[in-house]
Amino acid sequence: MDSIHKIIELFRKFPGIGPRQAKRFAYFLLSRDDSYNKTLARLILDLKSEIKRCGECQRFMPNNGASACSICTDKNRDGSVLSLVTNDVDMESFERSGVYNGKYFVFGGNVPILDNQTDSNHRVQKLFDYIKKNKSILKEIILALNATPEGEHTFEYLLSALSQFSKSSDIKISRLGRGLSTGTELEYADPDTLKNALKHRE
Ligand SMILES: [Zn+2]
Repeated sequence: MDSIHKIIELFRKFPGIGPRQAKRFAYFLLSRDDSYNKTLARLILDLKSEIKRCGECQRFMPNNGASACSICTDKNRDGSVLSLVTNDVDMESFERSGVYNGKYFVFGGNVPILDNQTDSNHRVQKLFDYIKKNKSILKEIILALNATPEGEHTFEYLLSALSQFSKSSDIKISRLGRGLSTGTELEYADPDTLKNALKHRE
């Protein structure tokens, strides 16, 4: 296989990218100058060493020597509310909307469709660590998952995993309200929808 077909195959593995788009990406790169392609290649090579997961909320952050991200260390944020989101992009939707001032926990995917059981257990363990560490201030955990079958499955899984905390402590477990229509992914939800879903959480 020649280079152009090899790169098309790699682009096809990107989420949501079909063969035609993969081809357009490859030809786009061929039309760029060397400096563009070198910058892109260098950024890709360094990405995983320059970015790490926050030790608290598990979201991606710069690998700058700090153990927790700017949101976790922000004293102006309300540590009594924790929104558990599926991925970093969902958290970014909340941030963009400006309607939420609590903390986050990025679960990292849905269970067990995208992940194997070991990964799910590992993430639940990280979540438990977070809850135990913040038990004295934490009052509510909002399961802010996608209104999709996968999100529903993850909700049931987490509800059962978290039942020990809702029973043994005063931590309330809630979920986003019906403002999110079925099939909605938080990543694409507009600020008003998110605001309503938060306001009407149950
Ligand atoms: Zn963090």
